[in-house]
Amino acid sequence: MQPSQPIIRVTDLIWIERCPRHLWLEAHGDPSTKVQRTRGATVLAAQGRQHEQAVLPVPDAVVVVRDWQDQVERTLADLRAGTQGIQQAALSVPLGDQTTLVGCVDRVVRVTGRSDLGDWFYEPIEVKWIAEPTPAHMLQLQCYRWMLEQIQGVLPDGQFWLGAMGHGSDRVAKEIRRITGPAAEQVAAAVERVLDITRQPVAPPIWFDDKACPYCPWNQACEHTARTTQDSALLPGLRRKTATALRQDNITTLTAIAELAPAHLATYPEVGKQGPKLQAQARAMCTGQPVRIGPATGLPPMDGACYLDLETTEQPARVWAFGMARGPADTQIVLVVPEIGTTPARPIRIAGISVILVPDMAAGWDQVAAVAGPGNGPVIHWSRYEQRFLRVTAPPPLQAALSSRLVDLQHWTTTNYALPMSRNATGTGGVSAKALSAWVGVQRPVDDSFAVAEQAFRHWCMDPADTTRLLPVVTYVAADVQFLVAIHAQLAAY
Ligand code: SF4
Repeated sequence: MQPSQPIIRVTDLIWIERCPRHLWLEAHGDPSTKVQRTRGATVLAAQGRQHEQAVLPVPDAVVVVRDWQDQVERTLADLRAGTQGIQQAALSVPLGDQTTLVGCVDRVVRVTGRSDLGDWFYEPIEVKWIAEPTPAHMLQLQCYRWMLEQIQGVLPDGQFWLGAMGHGSDRVAKEIRRITGPAAEQVAAAVERVLDITRQPVAPPIWFDDKACPYCPWNQACEHTARTTQDSALLPGLRRKTATALRQDNITTLTAIAELAPAHLATYPEVGKQGPKLQAQARAMCTGQPVRIGPATGLPPMDGACYLDLETTEQPARVWAFGMARGPADTQIVLVVPEIGTTPARPIRIAGISVILVPDMAAGWDQVAAVAGPGNGPVIHWSRYEQRFLRVTAPPPLQAALSSRLVDLQHWTTTNYALPMSRNATGTGGVSAKALSAWVGVQRPVDDSFAVAEQAFRHWCMDPADTTRLLPVVTYVAADVQFLVAIHAQLAAY
């Protein structure tokens, strides 16, 4: 609904903080290599809209607009008329050189004070489904403050309405954060940077970042380009400063990094003691085979092992699903559903998998203890989350019983092997189960996204009649647990 070029969208400016390459591709990339929003990104956007609807006042009337220009004109007319609050306020401000900055504010609200509009002016409100605004969100709000200043002659404060939704429409958190101080300089610098980036003859280098790339429509195009050129951006564990310095010396490929003299690699910033691991990782990527980097001893035996995967949310720290297994064909999932009240644990079957509904996390941890059994057998998990959530969410007696039995298989694996995994698949937070599943032969669900699973669970909690709607949750959690069993078997056989 927004106009065609020459314009800069406020949403473009947001990508400066995330990835300049995205901005360049938006201007010059081959549109046929750009995908629609990923399912995960779509779900996140839907969750954001749902949160907006929950915290913003219900509009007096539904306004149907013809196009972006119509929406801008109506917004301007409402601002001039002194309408109390306007949702989805469409702003368009010329920047000179025939360029226009456009953006749509979640809500603008009228406040008293002299301005070019009359005895009132407007403050922008951005609703964010998070507890802390990022620098990109901050820049977005600064833009809206500055754009309103151009329209009304007064720089208003801005507001973030922060918060998150729990499970159930009555658990909406909202915290208002006011943003004051100058905005013009920051906005001008951002606009200048966008123009600089889009004027460059070649795209900025790829830098895979798990906070931006999973939600970027150019992801597949970047992965394809990186694989075709064996770009060093594929290398997990490579620091950005190191990559930039290597690139300045024209060392841009996996092969080039693998073949560097170790002493030479060590001279680059932030390589430190990671040099040998980076080179092993580069060799693994070049050959498609794991490269051993540690003694590979101390792997717990499969006999007597129990496997545990948690699905969690932060703030407050909460486990909403426990995935467990004792072997390849023995998956059990426990879902924490406060809505079932004090009803005892209720077993159901979905897609052939045993699912138990419990009213709280303590009951979930009880189920974990029951599956793990009374002995000292290892409870194998992937990443540090399980240890942390055990400490934060389990009753003390269960913490004492389970803590010493937890074995972080991700830590063991990455300490002993460099794996042939793209950084784009592994993310910067560690080697993900998702990225390694194909390697160990575990099929992932079609909608392989935490956001999809979490949303399906949230929706089901609000209307728990139809248990088949839990299918995306069950398949997602089951894939994570079965991955643990499969990779343990693969590593034990090495
Ligand atoms: S996929 Fe990542 S590196 Fe590529 S343009 Fe998008 S955000 Fe940038």
